[in-house]
Amino acid sequence: MSLQKYRNAFARLSQGRPMRLMEICGSHSLSIARGGIRALLPDNITLLSGPGCPVCVSSPELIGQALWLLRQKIPLAVFGDLARIPGPGGRRLDREPGVTPVYSPDEALALAEKRETVFVAVGFEPTQAACAAVLSEAAERKIRNFSMLSDFKHLFPVFAMLQEVDGFLLPGHVAAVTGRIAFDGLARPGVVAGFEPEEIATALLHLVKKVVEHDLVSANDYPQIVPEEPGAAMAAVGRVFEVCGSVWRGIGFVPDGGRRIREEFVEFDAVEKYHIPSFPAQEETRCRCGDVLRGKIRPAACPFFGKKCTPEHPEGACMVSSEGACAADYTCLEAAV
Ligand code: SF4
Repeated sequence: MSLQKYRNAFARLSQGRPMRLMEICGSHSLSIARGGIRALLPDNITLLSGPGCPVCVSSPELIGQALWLLRQKIPLAVFGDLARIPGPGGRRLDREPGVTPVYSPDEALALAEKRETVFVAVGFEPTQAACAAVLSEAAERKIRNFSMLSDFKHLFPVFAMLQEVDGFLLPGHVAAVTGRIAFDGLARPGVVAGFEPEEIATALLHLVKKVVEHDLVSANDYPQIVPEEPGAAMAAVGRVFEVCGSVWRGIGFVPDGGRRIREEFVEFDAVEKYHIPSFPAQEETRCRCGDVLRGKIRPAACPFFGKKCTPEHPEGACMVSSEGACAADYTCLEAAV
């Protein structure tokens, strides 16, 4: 479909009603920015980026705890993007000795076969499923050198906090683990979408229709990957982790907004193993990630965007991962210049 045809279809379906839609997935943020999806939307439809990048919403306390472990000379394995978040005093894990960047939990487990290793992990259900498998393996093979400092998030309670949004583009990767059915019961319409620009545009058209009709039954526009019901991966998550309260960067404490290691696996919980103290961290007040993640502003409205804050020198977490809302918008602005 041509750009004009999309614009006409959005205008016709939305009937000119002002509408605020939000995508809740870092991969969607990137694909929307790269695919120029916002150019398809008429002026009455605003598409916001929500708290769907796990690095962006990681608790500010996590970096303080990781730095404490390094002071005890305990080596860390850290997802690459997470290591670039500015922590207390601007310190970043990737600039500290004793940190090995990894791309999967299996790499962290392999390191633990040679030496003591704490894996610092963040993520939603797909990452939790991979981490559950690794923790189960560590328990089975009795790899005592391995433990996890985790800050896993549970997405669903956050939807209720995003009051100013009329409809959600739901995350395909998360839904592939939780099943479509997990998104029933939201107070606003939602459509699960794939990641190609055309899949996203089609799902957005579907979402606009659902918003106009106030149809609250979530739809699955990614059925080739997303099942109706949760499968074995979600069962594995439930065996190893349990739902708990969690601090989301930019949003605050979210009851039931996280997952922690269950008692049965406590020997692999780094907080218990090393008696890590808590580090209630102040959020960086100049960074407006919180407003971006709650859909109050677009990244370009932050005075630091593209000036003091760039992917090379991030001021806040939303500029760290390529899937962060600020980084996704910045990268596409750069490409357009
Ligand atoms: S541009 Fe940088 S400082 Fe501004 S909200 Fe985004 S991450 Fe924070």
